[in-house]
Amino acid sequence: MKTEKNILIPDGTDLDRIPLPASENWKFIDELKKERPRYFAWTRRKAIPGEADFSRGCVLTGHFPDLEGRLDTALEDWKKFQHEAGLPESGPYKIILRQGDAGPYDSFRLTVSTDECILTAGDREGIRRGIFYLENLLLASDGPFLKIRDIRRDAWLKNRISRCFFGPIKRPPMNRDELLDDVDYYPDAYLNRLAHEGINGLWLTVEFKDLCRTEFTPDAAPDAEKRLAKLRHTADQCLRYGIRTFLFMIEPRAWDPEDPILKKYPELGGAVCADGTIAFCPSSETAQQYLYQSTRSIFSRVPQLGGIINISIGERNTTCLSSLSWDVKNHLSGHKMQCPRCRKHPVGEAIFKSVSAMTRGMREVSTEAEFICWYYMSTPAEMVDDFYTLTRLPEGATLLVNFESGGKKTQCGRELTGGDYWLSYVGPSTRFERMMNAVPEGIGRGAKLQVGCSHELATVPYIPVPGLLYRKYREMRRLNVTTAMQCWYFGNYPGLMNQAAGMLAFEDFSVGEEDFLKRLAAPYWRKHAGELTAIWQQASDAYGNYPFSNFIQYYGPFHDGVVWPLYPFRRYLPLSPTWRIDHPVSGDTIGECLSDLPLEHAEILSGKLYEQWHQAAVRANSLRSDYADAPEQLSELDLINALDILFASAHNIFRFYLLRSENRGFTPEMRAIMEQEIRHSEQMIKLCLKDSRLGFHSEAENYKFFPEKLEARIAFLKEMLAAPLPERPAMIHDISNQWFQADQYKWQMGNTGWSVKIHVVVSNIYRVDQMFAAIQGRPETPPVVIGITKNNDLIGSADGTSIKAVDHGDHWEAEFEIPWKNILLCNGTFRFALVRLFIRQNICEYAPYPNDPGGAVFRLRIGYHLPQYMMVFKADPAFIKDNQ
Ligand SMILES: [Zn+2]
Repeated sequence: MKTEKNILIPDGTDLDRIPLPASENWKFIDELKKERPRYFAWTRRKAIPGEADFSRGCVLTGHFPDLEGRLDTALEDWKKFQHEAGLPESGPYKIILRQGDAGPYDSFRLTVSTDECILTAGDREGIRRGIFYLENLLLASDGPFLKIRDIRRDAWLKNRISRCFFGPIKRPPMNRDELLDDVDYYPDAYLNRLAHEGINGLWLTVEFKDLCRTEFTPDAAPDAEKRLAKLRHTADQCLRYGIRTFLFMIEPRAWDPEDPILKKYPELGGAVCADGTIAFCPSSETAQQYLYQSTRSIFSRVPQLGGIINISIGERNTTCLSSLSWDVKNHLSGHKMQCPRCRKHPVGEAIFKSVSAMTRGMREVSTEAEFICWYYMSTPAEMVDDFYTLTRLPEGATLLVNFESGGKKTQCGRELTGGDYWLSYVGPSTRFERMMNAVPEGIGRGAKLQVGCSHELATVPYIPVPGLLYRKYREMRRLNVTTAMQCWYFGNYPGLMNQAAGMLAFEDFSVGEEDFLKRLAAPYWRKHAGELTAIWQQASDAYGNYPFSNFIQYYGPFHDGVVWPLYPFRRYLPLSPTWRIDHPVSGDTIGECLSDLPLEHAEILSGKLYEQWHQAAVRANSLRSDYADAPEQLSELDLINALDILFASAHNIFRFYLLRSENRGFTPEMRAIMEQEIRHSEQMIKLCLKDSRLGFHSEAENYKFFPEKLEARIAFLKEMLAAPLPERPAMIHDISNQWFQADQYKWQMGNTGWSVKIHVVVSNIYRVDQMFAAIQGRPETPPVVIGITKNNDLIGSADGTSIKAVDHGDHWEAEFEIPWKNILLCNGTFRFALVRLFIRQNICEYAPYPNDPGGAVFRLRIGYHLPQYMMVFKADPAFIKDNQ
């Protein structure tokens, strides 16, 4: 059975014992339920010639077909606007709604003349956009007057899909499902804000097994009724604001080999995936019926849904295509389809068949509903050519691809390649562009990106860098993208960045970034719009220095450096995944976040980012006195300050460990950094008390930092300054060249002079075996993490490392060879490496040496590496001498 021992031991710190804030204390939820006051700074009382005058009051008239009353919320909002602005409800000025041709999707025209303003749109949603646009124009003015003119706003981006900021993620560790509880995740004021920001779709997670009953699965989904009822309610609630609900799913799921449904209908199973699951084979009539009936069963109960966003390939195993390796580096076993049915057809047919059947079930109920097929190919490594042939989808479907994955950027003279989710990198990646260019006529093009923030730093509501969004959306328009999935679990808090994205959906990009930013700033900052534009541009340029490495996103100090302990001497403690809170606070093995770039570069880049951001922050703070009575604006300025601290902390942490790696003891500069970090935590406490959004990570479903934890960090740093923990003695077991023997396997390490070799022999009694090895030089250098299945499929990859598995029938063996230069450890007289080896047989896991407690703590892309349990491998000094 799978071991569930907690082997992550916090080291002398109370940081992990501080209880997390309970959800009833997440104050931002109360704020999202409240109407947001508008800030009018009208200083002028008289219209000038050539202006329309709203000051004597206005009426909204005209008929617009809206049987379901879905425009009511927008009309109501206009009334409130008029009321807040002090504009009389009856008055001479007329705002006339009119149906007419105004362009694609929710485009609209606004003809402002002396006595009336005509708002023309082809559909209801165009009217909604027009009303909100008019409100913003007036907010940006210095009085209730508008210049007489014709305005035309053409939408090019049809779908702007976001997600509830605090909705449960339906994933471990909490596995909460928003369709099963009684919480209202979509309060009116929140939806109204999203609607104002141009959001017209929200996604939420579902699984077939929870919702669908088919003739093949008559007893499935016992809670379906409860879930469907809440889904219906949610969809109705959102539609009142012109927002459609999309079901996010990863279907059809691969099967557990023991699943009784698979046993009964073996044709539903196809190729075997690397982890032992059986891919769903869409090629049989049974499979087609199952898929069709599944989506039909949902949509027939909730026909008002907007559609489906489905990861058809790339995350979790789905159809037979999941059994293939798509990234060039992992391409050891070739690209041969093992499924006897799918093997007979072109490679993309499996996706076409599964998507077609699901689309049929959906469209039979709702012709408007859309199928958005997402290829979540997130790894930096290049895709095999076959990937670009997966473009055959049913007519009207949309192909959604990660906008940045595979993108390249040169930093510190090194070319780096990024995986998913980048705001600091504009993109698109060549992968995205090549895929979009391959999309045939009749299929929509979609971009998956992060509007508010990404895995780079997701503990703030958003990063105020709208200039970067401008550059991204310009590229999206160039490539005829019509759907944007604007966020993952995070990156969706209402405010500046959502607002920018909503405006960009109507931008023709003819007048440039600066002009756009001024228009974005005008309704909120009026006379300072130009100054804000300059601040945002400086912030965008600063953020472009974020180190272009997914490891830094996933394990680095940017999200919550303000609660990181600092260890003056090596303790070999692991880093925590930035999107989780079920791991201890990050330790000192800084190398774990440095796979792609050396610590020196991380230090330089974070330093540049901080210095440039700090200048923007200084500039922003000079505006404070003008907004003393405008809380929204003040919190915008404070957000810039919070980021200033987070960037400073991240830089300090890299600098601290860079200094430590020089091995000169606890130097005065290291002490000074600790003192400064105490001040950063103190400053952050003040900001957290003012703004409950700070520290909250939507994917972690709780706070990564909060006042009590910041206090504990301060106490820890003070302790360390007074009495630093000494270097933790390494677990020295000289394991060179001996065989280690266990029940099911034996292994040995050897040295070729230029490389380390690991040889493992495993008895072949299970269908699926995997082998992992991790080698790390020092805590400040990146670990080399590699894995392989007994079928010779590489799991993860490391440049320059060779790895091979051979199946001999009664046993199989694997050989790893890792060049010493990749391990980066050589102290002059002898070389050594720290090693952890991990075997996963079927679902049993072993860590095969003395003193290792075993246990499966898996970290994304770091695998089973755990620095505190590594063994020391020494090479013979005489041998090294001869081979140098
Ligand atoms: Zn198949």
